[in-house]
Amino acid sequence: MQTKCWRNRIDRRRNGLAALLALLVVGALAGATSAGGDEWQSLFDGKTLDGWIQRNGKALYTVEDGVIVGTTVLNTPNSFLCTEKMYADFVLELDFLVEAGMNSGIQIRSHSYKHYNDYQVHGYQIEIDTSTRAWSGGIYDEGRRGWLYPLKDHPEAQAAFKQGQWNHYRIEAIGDRIRTWVNGVPAADLKDDMTATGFIALQVHNSKTAGQKIKWRNVRIQDISGKASPKMLKALIVDGQNNHDWKGTTPVLKRLLEETGLFTVDVATSPAARLPMDAFKPDFAKYDVIVSNYTGDDWPVETQNALVKYMENGGGLVIFHAADNAFPNWPEWNEMIAVGGWGGRNEKSGPMVRYRDGKVVFDNSPGNGGSHGPQHEFLVTARDRFHPIMAGLPEKWMHAKDELYSTLRGPAKNMTLLATAYADPAQNGTGENEPMLFTIRYGQGRIFHTVLGHAAEQMRSVGFIVTLQRGTEWAATGRVTQVEVPEDMSTADKVNLR
Ligand code: ZN
Repeated sequence: MQTKCWRNRIDRRRNGLAALLALLVVGALAGATSAGGDEWQSLFDGKTLDGWIQRNGKALYTVEDGVIVGTTVLNTPNSFLCTEKMYADFVLELDFLVEAGMNSGIQIRSHSYKHYNDYQVHGYQIEIDTSTRAWSGGIYDEGRRGWLYPLKDHPEAQAAFKQGQWNHYRIEAIGDRIRTWVNGVPAADLKDDMTATGFIALQVHNSKTAGQKIKWRNVRIQDISGKASPKMLKALIVDGQNNHDWKGTTPVLKRLLEETGLFTVDVATSPAARLPMDAFKPDFAKYDVIVSNYTGDDWPVETQNALVKYMENGGGLVIFHAADNAFPNWPEWNEMIAVGGWGGRNEKSGPMVRYRDGKVVFDNSPGNGGSHGPQHEFLVTARDRFHPIMAGLPEKWMHAKDELYSTLRGPAKNMTLLATAYADPAQNGTGENEPMLFTIRYGQGRIFHTVLGHAAEQMRSVGFIVTLQRGTEWAATGRVTQVEVPEDMSTADKVNLR
């Protein structure tokens, strides 16, 4: 039953997985000991903690004789030595030697963010339990839901852990299934889809006894992210030129997408302005969604055509803030973005789109396309509360001090207006409800366009974050699985920042 379900999900993938990979997934589910030809990579160089970051508590992490040693320290919370890298689907193996009386664990698909209890590490933990309870190999949700897979009905797994000796863990996290083995004995088998990606971390639990030690060695991984899981979506951010701080905003876009647990994110950076562009040919077809953080020199015709074809065939595109300033003379691009600004756009480019008396109005009056008054906080008002990107969000929320893009112009075809903002004449605004968030259909493709987010500071606005995350998923798949509205969602009275 499980296998059938996975096959169905694989069939739905647009990029057509090779039969070999399908076999790999089925093989892994059937408990094969090796995941095909994927290479083992060591997460520890045997000498330094390069590639690792310590978070939360102040327990001591050192390297001694090719082994990572964690030592308890008094009066400090749980400590975590975390990989800098995120891993989605993988097989992880390691050995550990733990002093009796200690508690520890291996975090997988875990995260640490300012907005979540001030960087508290949270996520799946493969328990290391020296107590008589003997739940080593069980799965605990650290900093989140507590026990997900205790070992109370698994006496064989409970007996597999060896006190005072080196123990071996195998941890497989593939799609929504996480399985563990303790010294070769199957322990946990959990189906859970809360988090699909994150870092790996070695825990030293807080302790009433100082100087207790746990050692780890042979920490190695087979990373099969993006190959085995039908769930991970591949996003490509395009940047390299912009009259905005793209070097500051691309890492934020990347982090916000990765934080959803739904995306792996690559970046394609073009040559700088006025340098030859001929070789700039991102492979759009490899991705579920393209996020444009680009405005600048024209792309080569071949690259333009590749994007058009990708979109006609059902691709996904996200237009972020000044990306709608790009390519004023590329007709297909203007259709994809619906409306844009500057670059000589005017009434010949198409109408302005406004919301008056409860309906969308196309305004053909003459004038330049693209303007904004001084930055200020403003209210965003939902105009389509049933669209998957908007479902459950408040009707109105305050957005951070930002530019209120106005008088954008373009073909405005096949466009669904999701949200507007009133451009107050007191802020040099137009006195109109200007489009802030909208979607466009282009061929079989889907576009999400947000005019919000001038720079990293504005991107801290929770309303921006939620709609970007949902909008990018929608552009990639036509669906939104991020249905929960975060507790810190901005309200009509107050903008919340992360
Ligand atoms: Zn701007």
